[in-house]
Amino acid sequence: MNKPNIVVLGAGYGGLITTVNLQKSLGANQANITLVNKHDYHYQSTWLHESAAGTLHHDRVRIPIKDVINTSKVNLVIDTVVSIDPKEKKVVLENDELTYDILVVSLGFESATFGIPGLEENAYMIESLNSSRLIREHIEYNFAMYHNEKEKNQARLNIVVGGAGFTGMEFVGELANRIPELCKEYDIDKSLVKIITVEGAPTVMPGFDPQLVEYAMNSLEARGVEFITSAMLKECKPDGIVYEKDGEEHSISTLTTVWAAGVKANSIVEESGFETNRGKVEVRPDLRSPEYDDVFVVGDCALIMNEETGRPYPPTAQIASQAADVAAQNIKDLVEGNKTLTAFEPNILGTVASLGNNDAIGTIFGDKKIFGWNATVMKKIIDNKHLLKLGGIGLLLKKGKFNIFNS
Ligand code: FAD
Ligand code: NAD
Repeated sequence: MNKPNIVVLGAGYGGLITTVNLQKSLGANQANITLVNKHDYHYQSTWLHESAAGTLHHDRVRIPIKDVINTSKVNLVIDTVVSIDPKEKKVVLENDELTYDILVVSLGFESATFGIPGLEENAYMIESLNSSRLIREHIEYNFAMYHNEKEKNQARLNIVVGGAGFTGMEFVGELANRIPELCKEYDIDKSLVKIITVEGAPTVMPGFDPQLVEYAMNSLEARGVEFITSAMLKECKPDGIVYEKDGEEHSISTLTTVWAAGVKANSIVEESGFETNRGKVEVRPDLRSPEYDDVFVVGDCALIMNEETGRPYPPTAQIASQAADVAAQNIKDLVEGNKTLTAFEPNILGTVASLGNNDAIGTIFGDKKIFGWNATVMKKIIDNKHLLKLGGIGLLLKKGKFNIFNS
């Protein structure tokens, strides 16, 4: 290939790691590399629940892309992708248009709302840095308003979280730790504040180890979180939600509904005419789309089947980051004219969920269970490992989580 144009869309876990690898492995005379992202920063999606709860400032969650990308090697374009035309090898941006020889689609996830009435309009989502910091501001505003109205409005102090998967549980863990501080700051009696989690399945974190799930529920209930399980959220209004349990409808008045009940691939993928399965591109083993030899898909836009279970792997940063390594390797091989590409096999090293800064649960090395301080330390090690991979020791020292002794 004669100095191809490689275009990477999205600087999340998948796109940024692909680009960092490419800038290391390809010489400037071998390819033109362009990275397109909406913002001039990368945010760690895995920390968004912390900025949403207000336990970690959003500036800790984001990293200026220029801190990890060498802009003399990579053309950084801050713009929004509108559509992709894989037949014409074109990407339409809000302010420009790009052509490519090799494309990497790594535009990440959006909240899945399943057509539930009122969610788009009235619920808050943990899906980007902007949407997460809005949740923090909104909760704080409602606490501040509480003593500024003649008639006390309990809906200002009721926080409903829809979905108790990993995101919902990690968020309520942070929130449970934040509420005492907020109550102090706004002179609110802590017993008035309600954090209510509505989960459709009979247990929270469905499918995860039952003992660890019980541990997580006990930890969160002890900090005041209420769980309503086997309850499907049916509607979200500006001043409350409706859920169905045992065939009956119930409502909760709230001005704050945080929707954390699942994700889907960025809808640009489906809208751009790629062949999709559940809204994602079911990639070939070498991470290329089934139809286009010049399009790689990594991260939450890709669907990768787990042959052992017959079900897709869950969309995680762990897999996005591993896939990025293989995509970058395969792109280098294509550029250098090698026809045999590497097949991607996810290597699941473990799953650890935080329950606030001071508690966590997880399974590592297959099925070894960890909880409490051990799991908290492991979670921080995982977070720090990513920073090290992305930007070396400098980034780790700047953004790393080292507060393990007061966990
Ligand atoms: P993302 O990281 O979402 O990146 C997408 C990028 O594309 C972003 O920079 C975005 O700004 C950009 N973008 C989007 N649309 C456009 C557009 N139109 N134009 C230009 N740029 C655009 N996984 C784990 O493995 N471990 C965890 O502990 C974990 N914790 C999580 C906690 C939370 C609260 C959430 C929400 C998810 C968590 N996940 C975790 C899942 C993980 O965050 C995702 O799987 C991962 O972020 C996917 O990486 P990605 O590169 O596909 O997308
Ligand atoms: P999820 O799909 O894992 O969980 C969504 C939850 O919402 C489920 O428990 C589901 O039963 C529930 N739900 C769906 N519709 C509902 C309704 N109408 N009413 C009530 N409950 C409803 O989604 P997630 O938690 O957003 O996670 C997304 C991805 O990110 C997953 O792959 C997850 O593994 C990953 N993630 C990982 C971590 C971690 O490893 N620490 C943390 C967060 C997210």
